Amino acid sequence: MDMKDLQPILLPGLDSTRPLIIAGPCSAETEEQVLTTAHALAREGIQIFRAGIWKPRTKPGGFEGVGEPGMAWLRRVKAETGMYTATEVATRAHVEAALRAEIDLLWIGARTAANPFAMQEIADALAEAGRDVPVLVKNPVSPDLELWIGALERIYNAGIRRLGAIHRGFTWVDKSIYRNFPFWTLPIELQRRIPNLPLFCDPSHIGGKRELIAPLAQQAMDLGFDGLIVEAHCAPDTAWSDKAQQVAPETLAFILRNLIIRDMNTTTESLNELRREIDQLDDELLDLLTRRMAVSVKIGNYKRDHNLSVLQSQRYEDILARRARQAVERGMDREFMRSVMQAIHEESIRQQMRVLEE
Ligand code: PEP
Ligand code: MN
Repeated sequence: MDMKDLQPILLPGLDSTRPLIIAGPCSAETEEQVLTTAHALAREGIQIFRAGIWKPRTKPGGFEGVGEPGMAWLRRVKAETGMYTATEVATRAHVEAALRAEIDLLWIGARTAANPFAMQEIADALAEAGRDVPVLVKNPVSPDLELWIGALERIYNAGIRRLGAIHRGFTWVDKSIYRNFPFWTLPIELQRRIPNLPLFCDPSHIGGKRELIAPLAQQAMDLGFDGLIVEAHCAPDTAWSDKAQQVAPETLAFILRNLIIRDMNTTTESLNELRREIDQLDDELLDLLTRRMAVSVKIGNYKRDHNLSVLQSQRYEDILARRARQAVERGMDREFMRSVMQAIHEESIRQQMRVLEE
């Protein structure tokens, strides 16, 4: 499905410079915590404030969010700071309450995005409300691109055009240093499949610890992500949820100031020069491969005339081993060279088989 009518996540008065930043606490805890954090973020130039009002917790018994009373706190944030507000919705009732409270942007959490019934319920509630609210869909907890795209399609089909995706990492056996493994290839493939879909990164939930926010945010910028959603709290160490990954508003501002934002413009003259060189080398590679195939065909003719088998496995193993060794000597990866030679060999065999069929 192509989502050709997608629009950028624009709200009146927002800076259009990349990245678009959404920041605020994991959870709204108290009116004071929400307002103190919001004022500090506003002073740092943040324009969209996030806070979880309903919290999907892995196990029962944890803090599950303050619920609807928190909406009044977000209204105050808007009135006092002029920031836009954003919260997570997981059910029809959440969507309705958030829209009633004039929340400006909704996001759907990773656990909800993994559940097509919940996604459809949210999409139906949005379609019935008929409001043009921007919606961001986090990746489902499992590294399943189709499930993520399916969740996005349900929201698109509900008439939402300011739609975006949030990469927040995936549940994985090998956590290494991450809370949720990044698997950058998934958001990159999502970008290839739906090029006009705004892409956000949530370095807080990928890393799970505050030290990882800066490097992960930088990686997202290097990959051309459009925005970041980051958890910030006025007193991170006392947070009621996700405290290890929250930072003070001033720390967030420091991190953002130090991000290197690469130019997404792709046409500088020196880059063009290097690209021409690459194109030329690729031309030469193609010529070489053509010549190599022509020799293969001659060998095929010889094998046919002398009744020899096409596949001579000892010779093949020798080629692979020798070239892999040479590649390593020249600073290339052994497996890379083995797969290049395998691909070339497969095509040679195909061409020789054709000789036999003639
Ligand atoms: C959150 O944003 O606080 C949250 C619950 O995130 P996720 O759905 O990515 O776990
Ligand atoms: Mn959180």
